[in-house]
Amino acid sequence: MSRAIYIQNGVLVISSRAKKIHRKSRKKNSFLYSMRLWLVVALILVTISPLFIMRLVALDHLQDQLRARRMNELSNYSLILSNQIVRSNYFKGDNMDTVHADMNQSASMYNGRILIIDTNYNIVKDTYSTLDGMTSISQETIKAMGGESIRNYNSEDGMLELAVPITTEDKSEVLGVILFYSSISDIQKTCDSIGSFYNGLTLALVFICIVLSLLIANLFTKPLKRVADSIDRMAEGHFDEQIHLSGFSEIQKISDSFNMMLGKMKKVEESRQEFVSNVSHELKTPLTSVKVLADSLNMQENVPNEVYKEFMQDIVVEVDRENQIINDLLSLVKMDKSASDLNISSVNVNDMLEMILKRLRPIAAKRNIELVFESFRAVSAECDEVKLNLAFTNLIENGIKYNVAGGWVKVSLDADHKYFYVKVADSGIGIPAEYQDQIFERFYRVDKARSRETGGTGLGLAITKNIILMHEGAIKVLSEEDKGSTFVVRIPLKHVSETGNGGVKNDKK
Ligand code: ADP
Repeated sequence: MSRAIYIQNGVLVISSRAKKIHRKSRKKNSFLYSMRLWLVVALILVTISPLFIMRLVALDHLQDQLRARRMNELSNYSLILSNQIVRSNYFKGDNMDTVHADMNQSASMYNGRILIIDTNYNIVKDTYSTLDGMTSISQETIKAMGGESIRNYNSEDGMLELAVPITTEDKSEVLGVILFYSSISDIQKTCDSIGSFYNGLTLALVFICIVLSLLIANLFTKPLKRVADSIDRMAEGHFDEQIHLSGFSEIQKISDSFNMMLGKMKKVEESRQEFVSNVSHELKTPLTSVKVLADSLNMQENVPNEVYKEFMQDIVVEVDRENQIINDLLSLVKMDKSASDLNISSVNVNDMLEMILKRLRPIAAKRNIELVFESFRAVSAECDEVKLNLAFTNLIENGIKYNVAGGWVKVSLDADHKYFYVKVADSGIGIPAEYQDQIFERFYRVDKARSRETGGTGLGLAITKNIILMHEGAIKVLSEEDKGSTFVVRIPLKHVSETGNGGVKNDKK
């Protein structure tokens, strides 16, 4: 699968797929997709909605309450008036002025009109004085004459209408009816003014909300914008510009994670640059030697055959070396791939090590070096035989290369329930403590001249370590200068594959 973003020549390369995604996201970055806009809208909605609900529900409720209270007041007053009429013998013509004065006062207090009707449906008194002496035969009047109290609210006129029977004290006889009409325009006015107050408050709050939410949205989105800018800068190849965002802990975490990623990318970039310069230097060296040898042959005339042959042999050595470096580089590139590229099978590790030693014995014999194999048990493991063969060959070859004449290389194999362990110990020149960490780096050689003499490229241990890591294993070195070195490798007996099926592709015995 092609990578979306990678580094090439110090520049972060964005593949066309990644660019497409980027363009798409930029498009979305238009006004409608802006986080700021949605934050503002959300904040306004959250603040304003309760106000609107309050305005609708609470105001209606208040109006209902005030109206009910007014109706009760009118009803109470009508009962008092009814008692007063009965006690003062009003219908017989007694105390009429007193009752009328009282009625007028109450009618104007409640912004209304009061009518007294006798049993003949004659209007005895109208506080407006327009219907006096006339007849009123409305439904309410008839019902009230029957002893029923009628309460009504006429929403069109905004009027409360009340019809109350005037009964004797023992309630046995209806003497007449009181009709009470009262306008509730004052209640509506109160509610309207509360409503306008709410409107003003809502408007002011909307304004405050917009300002506040813009500030808050800015507070939230500014750090994100800075992160986005920094990523853009990183994409242009600037790995030095860390971001330092203060404020919310989540933002600080983003900033810390970003800086950590930046640091890692910087390291990757530095090691890539170092690798590229090492590769070009290593590849150039044999070529330069070939050129010098060829030039000096060209410049001389009548070169004696022996000299010519000697030079040609040197050229062949350099070409072989160039070939070796390229082969090692290719192996290394292959090992850089993920562990899913391992070709896992059940491998008899004893057989594999014995085969390697058999192959290397003639080379060791040339330097009078003894190769010893010691196995504590038979070990069978799930691993990539070809790759592990290469890793152990590198270690044993090094034991021979960096040894003294007449020395030894001991390979031992052991296992527990989880891992197998291979130790490659030699009686060689050893590695100074200060270099022991570096020997696994690509192209690192403690003694360049010696490594070159023995055909080393400085890539062997890097390849070996990569192979072991691909197997989820570990490698460590114990060494003392002039005494010898021991490389200890630990590999799991069972391969844990990414797909979880154990990763065994074929089963060789
Ligand atoms: P090379 O091709 O130079 O052998 P390696 O990556 O295999 O490269 O090893 C890196 C360096 O580590 C060697 O150049 C050598 O200096 C040192 N080294 C590796 N193995 C041994 C060993 N068994 N004894 C002493 N030095 C060693």
